[in-house]
Amino acid sequence: MSTRPLLNRRLGGLGTTIFAEMSALASATGAINLGQGFPDTDGPEEIREAAVRALREGKGNQYPPGPGVPELRAAIAEHQQRFYDLAFDPDTEVLVTAGATEAIAAAMLALLEPGDEVIAFEPFYDSYTACIAMAGAKRIPLTLRAPSFRPDLDELQAKITPQTRLLLLNTPHNPTGMVLSAEEQDAIAALAIEHDLLVVTDEVYEHLVYEGTHHPIATLPGMRERTVSISSAGKTFSFTGWKVGWVTANGPLVSAVRTAKQYLTYVSSGPFQYAIAEALRLPDSFFDGFRADLQRKRDLLGEGLRAAGFEVYQPQGTYFITTDITPFGEKDASAFCRALPRRCGVVAVPNSVFYDDPDAGRSQVRFTFCKKDDVLREATSRLQRLTS
Ligand SMILES: *Cc1c(COP(=O)(O)O)cnc(C)c1O
Repeated sequence: MSTRPLLNRRLGGLGTTIFAEMSALASATGAINLGQGFPDTDGPEEIREAAVRALREGKGNQYPPGPGVPELRAAIAEHQQRFYDLAFDPDTEVLVTAGATEAIAAAMLALLEPGDEVIAFEPFYDSYTACIAMAGAKRIPLTLRAPSFRPDLDELQAKITPQTRLLLLNTPHNPTGMVLSAEEQDAIAALAIEHDLLVVTDEVYEHLVYEGTHHPIATLPGMRERTVSISSAGKTFSFTGWKVGWVTANGPLVSAVRTAKQYLTYVSSGPFQYAIAEALRLPDSFFDGFRADLQRKRDLLGEGLRAAGFEVYQPQGTYFITTDITPFGEKDASAFCRALPRRCGVVAVPNSVFYDDPDAGRSQVRFTFCKKDDVLREATSRLQRLTS
């Protein structure tokens, strides 16, 4: 056999995602998994029932329409109107995808030429790195630095070159919990317009903002025609296994993204699409209650981590808390997280793996709080062992 590596050059170095590695460590050791962000309680019972009903009534058991079932596309358009006053035509400006993950992949594969530069916040959500690589493009990190993780907009401006094609935004930001302010969004929009850049924005935590408010950048003047907004039902409705995501954008952008999406999954999640159409129409009390519940969990985990000795960076949104382990005299988050299950019976994720700059996140560790209160209490009580 030839000695040529099997994995091609674009994907070389990507390896196994840290979530798979840490979740495997959690099962092998029986540790509490605060690594991967999936809730340990399913979403609303009525929405589970809606999925059962769709399946029994034969809705979506065969290939649904390529752009998504009309009921769901209409519900997505209504949701954008209801929460953000954004009008999208459900037939031409909405696309249903296999989670936000496929939407991101399809957007990168559709909109980038090899050699294009993509500016994205680091720490990166891990699929960004892979999707930019698969498109043959070049990622240019804009480093979010502790303790505030605010983007440095002068640095952003300095990183824009004639090769820059696209800004890949994520607000609320995973893993840091940073939520872009209105002023930051205005400044980013002005740069995008000045340099004629596309913007792809990952807003899967749109309903989990505890401080400030979520304003899609697509609402700003001049942005609708250059912005691909991505979201998903997984995080908002606590059904991460259903993989129902979506894109909203103007017709030409949706059409470009759809071209790539067609040849990735073509379609997915048939019966679940009908159930998520109902979920998107739940009353405000659902969205408010969900956010209030997660905010309480944020405070519960944050207090426990502080008591255990971590430096805690208060997240403004998402369901993650980033911490720093220097107070324990530790410097290397990867080594710390590999040892933590045996040391304390808890799994967390090292943020260092989400940075290109090895120094920027070296001592950062991320915990999720989308777990039952007693699980969070048990985990933080185990973590008190770090100092005793
Ligand atoms: C979870 C997550 C996704 C993936 O969403 P799916 O709908 O499960 O594919 C994308 N982006 C961010 C920032 C996430 O945290």
